[in-house]
Amino acid sequence: MRIYISGLYSGTNPQPGIGITRSLRQAYPDATLVGVEYSNRSSGIHWTDLDELWLQRPWEELNLDAYANEIREVLESGALWISGFDLEIMWLASLFPEGHRNMLTPPASALRKISKPAVEAHKGLPVRIPPFISTEHSDWDIHTFCRQHNWKVWLKGPYYEAVRIASWDAFEIFRSTLARAWSTEKLFLQTHVSGYEESVCFCAYQGELVEAVYMRKRELTEEGKTWAGDVTEVSEEFLAPLRRIVRELNWSGGAELEMVRDTEGQLWLLECNPRFPAWIHGSTIAGRNLPAMLVERATGVAAQKAEAVSEEFTRVVLEVPVRSQFPLPPLPEPFPGGIGHSLKHPSGSLALAERLGKLNIIQTNGNGNGNGHKGKAEKGEPQIPSSFINDLKAYDVNDMETPAWLFLESTAQSLFKSAQGLASRLSTSFVKVTNGYSIKTNPDERLIKLALESGFLAEAISLLEVQKALKVGFKPEQVILNGPGKWWPEGLLPKERLHAVFCDSLADIRRVAASMERGELQSKIVGVRLRTPNVYSRFGIPVDTPKALEKLVDAIELLPRDSAFGIHFHMASSNIGVAQWWHLYESMLRWCRSIESLAGRPVEYLDIGGGWFPDDWHTEDDDRFTSAVRRAPEVLRNVRQIISEPGKAIAQPSMALAFRLLEFDETEEEVKEAVVDGSIAELPMHFFQPHRILHRDAQTGEWRPLKRGKTQLLGRLCMEHDIVARGVQLPAGARVGDVLVFCDAGAYDRSMSYVFGRG
Ligand SMILES: *Cc1c(COP(=O)(O)O)cnc(C)c1O
Repeated sequence: MRIYISGLYSGTNPQPGIGITRSLRQAYPDATLVGVEYSNRSSGIHWTDLDELWLQRPWEELNLDAYANEIREVLESGALWISGFDLEIMWLASLFPEGHRNMLTPPASALRKISKPAVEAHKGLPVRIPPFISTEHSDWDIHTFCRQHNWKVWLKGPYYEAVRIASWDAFEIFRSTLARAWSTEKLFLQTHVSGYEESVCFCAYQGELVEAVYMRKRELTEEGKTWAGDVTEVSEEFLAPLRRIVRELNWSGGAELEMVRDTEGQLWLLECNPRFPAWIHGSTIAGRNLPAMLVERATGVAAQKAEAVSEEFTRVVLEVPVRSQFPLPPLPEPFPGGIGHSLKHPSGSLALAERLGKLNIIQTNGNGNGNGHKGKAEKGEPQIPSSFINDLKAYDVNDMETPAWLFLESTAQSLFKSAQGLASRLSTSFVKVTNGYSIKTNPDERLIKLALESGFLAEAISLLEVQKALKVGFKPEQVILNGPGKWWPEGLLPKERLHAVFCDSLADIRRVAASMERGELQSKIVGVRLRTPNVYSRFGIPVDTPKALEKLVDAIELLPRDSAFGIHFHMASSNIGVAQWWHLYESMLRWCRSIESLAGRPVEYLDIGGGWFPDDWHTEDDDRFTSAVRRAPEVLRNVRQIISEPGKAIAQPSMALAFRLLEFDETEEEVKEAVVDGSIAELPMHFFQPHRILHRDAQTGEWRPLKRGKTQLLGRLCMEHDIVARGVQLPAGARVGDVLVFCDAGAYDRSMSYVFGRG
């Protein structure tokens, strides 16, 4: 008996070749085990159970046709082949589309049905697939996906590699790194599932399930790989559908279904690997030698029975002698641009991926729209609200000096109007719902004026902002003062009564109490801002220890009783995610109730801050704001007014930024780089959120959104990081001098833009 085994890499993220070899050696002491490798850097080639080595040229140099013929001869001679390397398995499947009796790997059609992330073949198993989105969607949709899933997402490559993503700029960087490394744009984002990691490993021959085991990870490496585990039986609930699927796929070879069990006990399928897992010898230790059972089924040669030694296994690190024919190579040169797997694996996965991609052999995650994700967009084209285009038509861009800020008037009007409408619809005779416009978000007078006309209060974080609100027409009794620096600059505090003042610290409470006692400050409401427990914030007064709570309650005692008491909290849902924000809201309501009873001050006013991304704020298909408003008086029985303080939710869509294409090679078929006259100085939020970009056809005047593509838009600044868009496509007719409009720039892009590079 002669068995070829590939996938011998044996670092901290190992391939299964060594485990397969050990298990086969135990069952077939006299078999000839041949190790197959593509790099002399794979330490597994020195494993003593291997009788022979078949070391190939690296994948980038290998003559694939000649190698394929040699493999055919090997199989025809009666030898078996067990692959431990996914990409090799895909290539082998292209050589043997219908399989080969001695090739113990699955056929091509089966591989397509287990490809990530949808894993079509999971149907019938008691598992679910975590929501995902292909990165071929528009950046706008991808950002939505991340917010909706609380920024607990993984960026995954089509074959290996997963990077945890917590912010937009990290996403942009890793997307381009992974795309370059694996020569594909077909990456995807998938939500993180918290829970315990479990696997079902099985082997099958020509569609017949031979054996399956269930493994729970009991110890993990930093990369999340198994270091210890226990192996038991697979439940019949799982086995029955698995048997059917194996038959439908006509599976041959080993396989592993990697899953996470969440706190409610639901299993989530992360991937289905077309090979044995690296811990496979752990199963042999538990008395189930899957590689041997596979070989026994394929050849009819009885394997020596495996003795169950223990249900639990763990790993150790071993030193083994280096084979004298294969002395250690010199240290490798660092591979630039690789991360994780692609950096560490010496077996040429990246090179093989590139070759297979060119040969059209590998199937990537072209299955587009993830489950649970709405908003399909063809070729990454973002949806543009029609009011943007209508507002843009009011501008004569031909003679416009760029970069230029464009106020989208009807868009802004309708946003304020719908906020006003919602507040009045939600108000009852007991609880009034009011909007406050956050001035700092964009202090443009046109927006402040719209806020005034739409029944908003003005929310200010400095006395200069208060003065600006008064100048536009607000009365002091319509002003809310908030934040840690609100008394700056001295001497600008209005004499009249304000609507509300929220204290940001214990010292601030004492200052406010004293100033009110002296008659310098008058306010209908005085209150406190609470620091959110569990979610880091530098603002507000902490409540998360008994001591801190006691100090707060004592300080509240100082606040005059002839003003009403209120509580404010603010945490940007655009950063922590929408679901998490609502969870926080519930918890804040309970904190408010504790403070109410401990301080003996009814909470009559609740101010829930801003921080919403426009698309997440009071959307039509999400009536959670309504339920939040209904919920508040259930927990806080004295509440009379609920104030919401949208800043960017309203301001962000209200302005756009016009740039001009300064230079690109118009003769190039696929433009890689184009320079614009704008920069990150005008788009400081570029690192935190995407912007939908429109191109204006100079001939027809038509506005079209940019799709996903291969062009980078380089800013005019001489700064390495001044790249205002990555992965977009200029339309075919684009010319130097054309106008591009970056939408969604009306919030902090506008207010925080700076003057740079203008002499
Ligand atoms: C900044 C701010 C807001 C508005 O936040 P956005 O992120 O612009 O929505 C609301 N309330 C307070 C107290 C703020 O400081």
